Amino acid sequence: MSEERTELAEYGEFQLIRHLTKSVNHVQPSTHVGIGDDAAVLDMGDGQYSLISTDMLVEGVHFDLSYAPLEHLGYKAVISNISDICAMNGVCEHITLSMAISNRFSVQALEALYRGVKLACDRYRVDLVGGDTTSSSSGLVLSITSHGRVPKENVALRSGAKEKDVLVVSGNLGGAYMGLQILEREKSVFTDAPQVQPDLTGHDYILERQLKPEARVDVVHQLLEKGVVPSSMIDISDGLASEIFHLGSQSEVGCHLYEEKIPIDPKTYETAREFDMDPTVCALSGGEDYELLFTVTAEQFELISDLSDIVAIGYMTDAGSGFNMETKDGHVVPIKAQGWDHMDKED
Ligand code: ADP
Ligand code: MG
Repeated sequence: MSEERTELAEYGEFQLIRHLTKSVNHVQPSTHVGIGDDAAVLDMGDGQYSLISTDMLVEGVHFDLSYAPLEHLGYKAVISNISDICAMNGVCEHITLSMAISNRFSVQALEALYRGVKLACDRYRVDLVGGDTTSSSSGLVLSITSHGRVPKENVALRSGAKEKDVLVVSGNLGGAYMGLQILEREKSVFTDAPQVQPDLTGHDYILERQLKPEARVDVVHQLLEKGVVPSSMIDISDGLASEIFHLGSQSEVGCHLYEEKIPIDPKTYETAREFDMDPTVCALSGGEDYELLFTVTAEQFELISDLSDIVAIGYMTDAGSGFNMETKDGHVVPIKAQGWDHMDKED
């Protein structure tokens, strides 16, 4: 045994995954794409690709039960997995759910969790087909694995973006992050002065973005109807900047982003201002919006430009140009912000 010890802090989340998996080889001919995309892509010989993704949520790291109701947590856990299948331009069909629970939870509490799980499954026509249940000595851990399918010619990887492609995003960004700021502010007020009731009024939209997000299955369907297959796609779970880096680096292209085009809801904007934060930074670095970020050719963009809930925010450049943002006042600056790095957050 070597005496050598490297602290986790020396690695970021993605660097650690790369390090641990660099010697992983595939021996199955059915493995089309392995580690590195939103879902693995498997060719099971049925004419479509099977998509598999998995995500783990840990109490105190990804959620705080003092303000995230269990029903919402169940819903959101399923949504984030459906979203990873959407990010491959596919449709989720099945999930399994595993959980580690402590006796702090009552049967009624877990029933609430499952109400949320079931609501998401019903709404998105996904079947819960298995899982695992075990005990935890501290906190709740949830792990969901999702399976979906996509016609082979429709699969959208992170690695397919080309120079001059248009960068497109669905919905709006930064809302889930501002919702979290509201919840954390009211929690600290409540902790400091328990007689004060949390004041969440007027923040319904961003609270919903945080507590009860949706997966953009509708966008996948709309693209299909228009006959447009994105050259690359990713879901925005970690913030726009981080996802642009993933698409760009895996596609070996750069990006020119227009700050003024980044879609930010007025409620998000107002709340960011109230917190003395820059709304653009919230969109670039805030997580959990579960919108889709994708690239299409200029001709394809013509076909989808009339869709109501998508917007072009930039274009891809050569890799050497790097990742840049043209600010509202016309300056071109390198895109910063890391997005959520759960490993760092734990420090
Ligand atoms: P996402 O944000 O879409 O959920 P992640 O950032 O969690 O994706 O993961 C990036 C890629 O690394 C995915 O392909 C995922 O399957 C893979 N991955 C993450 N953790 C591990 C691990 N411990 N071992 C093997 N692959 C992993
Ligand atoms: Mg993803």
